Amino acid sequence: MGTTDSSTYDAVVIGAGISGLVAAVTAAEAGLSVALVEKTGAIGGSSAMSGGFFAFSGTEEQQREGVRDSAELFLQDMLEVGGYANDESLLQAYLAHQADLYFWFKSKGVEFSTLEISSGQSVARSHLSAIRDVLRHLTKQFLEAGGTLLVNHCVTELVRGDAGRVEGVVVTTPDETRVLNGIGGIVLASGGFSRGVDLLKIFAPEQLAGIPYGGLGNTGDGLKLAWKLGAGMADMAYISGTYGSHPETGPEFHELLTAYYMGAIIVNINGERFVDESKSYKTLGSECLKQPEGLGFEVFDSVVRAKSHPGVPLNDIGMLEDIGHVHKADSLDELAMVIGINAARLQGTVERYNEAVAGKRADDFGRTGLCNGAGELLPIQTGPFYAYPAKTLMTTTYCGITIDTDARVIDVSGDVIEGLYAAGEVTGGFHGKAYMTGTSLGKGALFGRLAAKHIAATVAS
Ligand SMILES: Cc1cc2nc3c(=O)[nH]c(=O)nc-3n(C[C@H](O)[C@H](O)[C@H](O)COP(=O)(O)OP(=O)(O)OC[C@H]3O[C@@H](n4cnc5c(N)ncnc54)[C@H](O)[C@@H]3O)c2cc1C
Repeated sequence: MGTTDSSTYDAVVIGAGISGLVAAVTAAEAGLSVALVEKTGAIGGSSAMSGGFFAFSGTEEQQREGVRDSAELFLQDMLEVGGYANDESLLQAYLAHQADLYFWFKSKGVEFSTLEISSGQSVARSHLSAIRDVLRHLTKQFLEAGGTLLVNHCVTELVRGDAGRVEGVVVTTPDETRVLNGIGGIVLASGGFSRGVDLLKIFAPEQLAGIPYGGLGNTGDGLKLAWKLGAGMADMAYISGTYGSHPETGPEFHELLTAYYMGAIIVNINGERFVDESKSYKTLGSECLKQPEGLGFEVFDSVVRAKSHPGVPLNDIGMLEDIGHVHKADSLDELAMVIGINAARLQGTVERYNEAVAGKRADDFGRTGLCNGAGELLPIQTGPFYAYPAKTLMTTTYCGITIDTDARVIDVSGDVIEGLYAAGEVTGGFHGKAYMTGTSLGKGALFGRLAAKHIAATVAS
């Protein structure tokens, strides 16, 4: 093992988000020489913009809070939220290795400050990390382990050897174009294509109406590179933005509120509900795009307002109120006036909803719980009342290259593309139709680690 010249490494990892960094650290700590190649001027990608939640089960945090979880329930939830369109072998790999990843993070000093129940979960499974610190810390460890970090290096081509094995990449910088060899393997960890307008036009044109978001480098480069070599693809039909971000959300300041998982309903500008609000926020994202102006208001009362969780992404109503994004009024009529919707319609919608909560009628959209069917529904009746206007944010694509349980890329015929690995948002098959909070950072890190371990074993053999 070791470098043979300045452009030859045991492994080349493409993209310095969570997937690439975990792959790179794992490989470097296994004694491999590793180049981590990042197209932009900084590490992080979408990972650095994320909420920082990792989905784990059987953890100390769950134990401490008395959360009863199991691998079976975790699997069931992932299959249900994914509409049973997931590749179950990848889910089984996640369940088999998530404890290893959790303890690896802990051994690196990562702390999980809060445990939350969120999208797609029937028990609290979202472990909150200080994600930017985690990424910085991993970068430091990679460099300390002797890794080479190349920022402002864009991979533009994968290089195959005579036997068809992927053995290198072409990188371009503002000054030059050159080849980096990765004799043990190349890991695609280049993220999704939430900013890849050309790919969105092909696979999900309706999502172009969402607010563009995600890492600036997330234009689908890795997907195209693998596609060119015949890689298979999965979940391309299920791309959806995430509901709900204030219409003024932009790259500088990102916000997302999930008051609906605490008891809010969502109404359109006609004052009408349009979805079972307990569903995955990806499903809500697709439904919201179909509404007039692509706008939905999260409407709730003081009981939900009291559940605000200061400092916790998705749940911090107080912070959003402080910056003027949450509207407040003493009555529903007044609230309707403030947000510019028909008062009688809003009143009627809330009354119908409250009747369903009281068991006097079936809910119009089959809502039976706060989040993924769990949690008792609450009537909206105790003023003051609140409304948060929100749209669909095109954060992530969650579909792409097919991989096996060692993160090796599988081609359209089901064969391994030797030498090529993929991890994270560039891959498909894991989530299926929708996504459970925490499983994207989780799967990125986990399959990044598996890719690195497989390369290390290959180099050693
Ligand atoms: C607002 C928001 C909140 C989220 N919250 C959560 C959450 O709490 N929990 C969760 O599990 N998921 C969450 N997600 C999703 C999750 O953050 C991403 O799916 C995940 O971070 C993707 O990680 P990655 O390493 O695969 O890609 P990224 O982190 O996007 O990293 C990919 C990197 O590859 C680089 N790159 C791209 N092309 C090239 C190229 N040609 N050459 C070199 N480098 C290249 C990019 O510049 C980028 O730095 C959230 C996403 C967003 C946007």
